[in-house]
Amino acid sequence: MSHSSAPRMRKCRQKKEEEEEEPLGGDMEDLFNEKETQNIRTSLLDWYDENQRDLPWRKKTRSGTEKERRAYEVWVSEIMLQQTRVQTVMEYYKRWMHKWPTIYDLAQASLEEVNEMWAGLGYYRRARFLLEGAKMVVAGKEGFPNKASSLTKVKGIGEYTAGAIASIAFNEAVPVVDGNVIRVLARLKAISANPKDRLTVKNFWKLAAQLVDPSRPGDFNQSLMELGATLCSVSKPSCSSCPISSQCRAYSLFQENRSIPVTEYPTKVVKAKPKVDFCCVCVLEIQIQEKNQSGGRFVLVKRPEEGLLAGLWEFPSVILDKEASLAARRKAINLYLKEAFHLEPEETCTVVSRKELGEFVHIFTHIRRKIYVELLVVQLTEGGTIDLFKDEAEDTLTWKCVDSDVLSTMGLTSAVRKVYSMVEAHKQDLSVSSNRTAISRKRRIT
Ligand code: SF4
Repeated sequence: MSHSSAPRMRKCRQKKEEEEEEPLGGDMEDLFNEKETQNIRTSLLDWYDENQRDLPWRKKTRSGTEKERRAYEVWVSEIMLQQTRVQTVMEYYKRWMHKWPTIYDLAQASLEEVNEMWAGLGYYRRARFLLEGAKMVVAGKEGFPNKASSLTKVKGIGEYTAGAIASIAFNEAVPVVDGNVIRVLARLKAISANPKDRLTVKNFWKLAAQLVDPSRPGDFNQSLMELGATLCSVSKPSCSSCPISSQCRAYSLFQENRSIPVTEYPTKVVKAKPKVDFCCVCVLEIQIQEKNQSGGRFVLVKRPEEGLLAGLWEFPSVILDKEASLAARRKAINLYLKEAFHLEPEETCTVVSRKELGEFVHIFTHIRRKIYVELLVVQLTEGGTIDLFKDEAEDTLTWKCVDSDVLSTMGLTSAVRKVYSMVEAHKQDLSVSSNRTAISRKRRIT
């Protein structure tokens, strides 16, 4: 398993193409020779035995049916580690395993529970696929697939994850290729071809397949990823401590010509600019007159089951494709509230307060979103125009009302959590200033 402090770049994992004879292409003119292969295997495994980090998902491979449990652990950790830092994953992994220690436990879970557990890790599709994959394996008659070729048939398991599970849990001599492996291989062979190019990726798989040690495939794959995550880092590789520096072409080129650092490899690919959009979030707090309750209840809306943040809860919001004035944002929100809830501020409800709380930028996978936050507190009469306290799904929209205690314990995405923390900070300010006013009034009276 690769355990970099930097996010992992596993999007580059590609499905293996149909076997066809193609030249290695670009400057990947050759594979490793037999001697190089042996030296790299021995050096990396010796180094890994001495230096591997102690991580909660690293355990000795078990035997018999325990292998399935190990496979499940590798699967969960690998999916969590995609695009996420090791330090962040550790706590999530421990909590997950405490709640669902086996694939059979996970298969019983609901998507709601899984999303709650995943809240804050991002890329929520991974969690949904993990759950669907677990259900698929448990429902099958064959047990846990133990070959990479059959693992890729499970929902959410691509070639990388299949290779990791098969090699680490089932000792199958198959390679893994992720961002860390690509970096090490590109430097070992001084490959300057575009690492995102389909043919180049395919050739990285060929090189990794050639290197994988048949007697300890899981450990070897982890050693290669561990090297990329630690010594052979993106910007500050520690070549002088590297166990395979004598096999490294990029290092040897650097020693001949100091103007070409090893960090020239792999070639940096310019990222596509993220799409920019704007989002007005309206934290809608409902107060019921007759209930005489201390705090209101907040409306949460469930996102569609497909697409970005599928099936997750958020505050009512409207996406805009360009910057908009406060008046235009309120107009858009008012229209949304009217269409979604038949709620028209000052028409069908009393507005207690309406306050802009600020804005922040949140980065999603390919979207840079500027989020404007407002708090709208309205008062309804019990049995009034709408019954906002039913939790049933409407035809086009699923929503519910929750109080602040529930909201604080729900698994929410980091953007929604941030919005709610702005609301909490605002309420805290209000309470401090109303206390001050009360004290100064009391002083004036006395
Ligand atoms: S010698 Fe340097 S560049 Fe080459 S594999 Fe080792 S750490 Fe990476």
